[in-house]
Amino acid sequence: YKDDSMRSSIRERMRYLRVGDFKSVASSVKESITIYDAVVAMFTNNVGSLIVVGQERELRGMVSRKDILKASLGKTELQQVPISVIMTRMPNIIMAYSDESVMEAAHKLVRHQIDSLPVVDILIDETGNERCDVVGRFTKTNVANLFVELGY
Ligand code: ADP
Repeated sequence: YKDDSMRSSIRERMRYLRVGDFKSVASSVKESITIYDAVVAMFTNNVGSLIVVGQERELRGMVSRKDILKASLGKTELQQVPISVIMTRMPNIIMAYSDESVMEAAHKLVRHQIDSLPVVDILIDETGNERCDVVGRFTKTNVANLFVELGY
């Protein structure tokens, strides 16, 4: 009985908490930067993956550490080739939304075996096209921080 009630109280809190209140700033880069500059951006922003955006900050893709390691194995000119060549691109990007529960977002990280999700607002332009405006990122680190916060 005790286990069940504890489990349901944790579940309640995880469902009540919103991604928008726990997300981090989006460390985003333009798709035209080189793979070399993406490595520099990972170090300066202290992140393991970068959100790739277009001219209007709309989501275009994601580049992770492993994408860069893979490119480094071949003959790719890291100082010439843009990250758009090696990124995982839309529409294959798994996203989170500010009003989504942290439980749902954490489940996406686990289910898809990825480290981070771009947090987006979906905007509809004049011509009726959908655009994903990047407003942050939600990562395994956010989940670990939250876990510690809930435990104290
Ligand atoms: P790492 O490569 O450092 O292990 P990830 O596990 O996050 O980092 O990335 C694994 C693969 O999934 C990479 O090819 C990356 O481009 C891709 N990826 C990362 N984040 C996402 C996402 N939110 N949606 C879809 N694919 C992603």
